[in-house]
Amino acid sequence: MLRKLRILVLGSLFILLALIVISMTSVRERISGLDGGNPTGPIWFVTGIEYDLLQLELELKNYTLGRSGPEDVNRRFDILWSRLIVIQKGDTAEKLDRYQVDRTVLDSLFAMLKANDSLVVNLPQQIAQDSTVREFLDKIVTYNSPLRNLSLDVLQASSRASKIRREELADINTQSTILTGMVVAAFVVLGALQILETAQTKRSLKEKERLLRDATAAGVAKSQFISVMNHELRTPLTSIRGAVTLLNAGAAGVFPDKAKRLLDMVQKNSEQLSLLIEDILEIEKLMAGRFELRTEIVDMGALIADELPNFNAYAKASDVTVVLNTQTDGALVEVDTKRMRQVLSNLVHNAVKFSRPGNAVHIDLTQSADEVVIAIADKGIGIPDDALPKIFDSFYQVDSSDSRNTGGTGLGLSIVKNLVEAMRGNVSVTSQVDQGTTFYVVLPVASVVAQSNMQAAE
Ligand code: ATP
Ligand code: MG
Repeated sequence: MLRKLRILVLGSLFILLALIVISMTSVRERISGLDGGNPTGPIWFVTGIEYDLLQLELELKNYTLGRSGPEDVNRRFDILWSRLIVIQKGDTAEKLDRYQVDRTVLDSLFAMLKANDSLVVNLPQQIAQDSTVREFLDKIVTYNSPLRNLSLDVLQASSRASKIRREELADINTQSTILTGMVVAAFVVLGALQILETAQTKRSLKEKERLLRDATAAGVAKSQFISVMNHELRTPLTSIRGAVTLLNAGAAGVFPDKAKRLLDMVQKNSEQLSLLIEDILEIEKLMAGRFELRTEIVDMGALIADELPNFNAYAKASDVTVVLNTQTDGALVEVDTKRMRQVLSNLVHNAVKFSRPGNAVHIDLTQSADEVVIAIADKGIGIPDDALPKIFDSFYQVDSSDSRNTGGTGLGLSIVKNLVEAMRGNVSVTSQVDQGTTFYVVLPVASVVAQSNMQAAE
């Protein structure tokens, strides 16, 4: 949960940073696009022209009064001329266009100056009253007022542009404040998440330590229990069984019937208890991998046929028969014979135990190119679907209530599974309640095992 939140915040932070980079670029563009309002701006040029025009007018008047020479008029004329050229192109002209002011007055002034260029250049040194000069002077005067209007227009447009500039700056400022705020908030959330995660990690570390302590304690308890089973239970139980067998065999004389029945009961129960202990010790060894397999190549058909009389002797007590159907010859497998007999015995005992009197248990042996399959099928009570995945678990029994009439501890199938898998096979089951159950033991044929061993060795 915390991790997901962190990824979310990190994602948003990444998006925010991307936004900041994008907005920085656009801010830069916008700032560079802003009119700086510096002295090279159009207003300075227009007022400059207005001023230069007045200067030219003054100089001409002085000239007509004989107070200044033609070179003074020429100088003023040139200044005005060059200022007009500057304003009509480049940056200033562009800005004037942007302000959308009517600058025809400048064009007309320039045209008028051009028309009078030769007049100014050829002004005589001594001239007092010349009508062309006067006309020129009159023309110049007519431009004063339109130029003032142009100045005012430019001034207005420029202050409008300044206003927009101020608003843009305020806008940029707000945007960057918001983005900065968001970044700070994201960092704060990230920090908080980090603190939470650290706390959680500490908690789960403590929990793991506790579990480890518990597991170690459980391990110690388990090995103590196993050692108690081995020495304190198994050894005296063996003596009890031996003594009871001897008593039953008449070693201490003949007992009255009642005492004999009690002795039978002691013998039966002590044998069951002994089986349970053996099973628990066995499964413990299997789970811990502390057992050795003495494998050899065996004909599975022959092995089952050899065990069949034992199965039938046991099944007879339940009025069940065990039938072997070998559909293949020479089903060679590489197994530990003793362990394989144990596997078959567990499965057949189950099949008999959960059959009804008069039923038959069928053992079918088949083989393919790679596998030998032993199917042990009964027509007994069956296993409900929801129990099927659990039956190979240790101590699991479909009906573990005291009222059930079959004995056992629920370790048989767990031992079977561990042994078959240790012999590179697998065991599976199909069942239908009240119809019966079939267990399948699948083992690789001996040649396949040999081949895979050779491959492993290479
Ligand atoms: P144990 O084998 O330790 O003496 P168990 O026979 O009860 O005891 P498993 O052999 O492990 O234990 O079997 C587990 C359970 O699976 C049984 O208790 C039974 O409920 C069910 N089961 C196993 N084989 C069959 C079968 N052939 N038919 C119906 N149920 C079965
Ligand atoms: Mg069993």
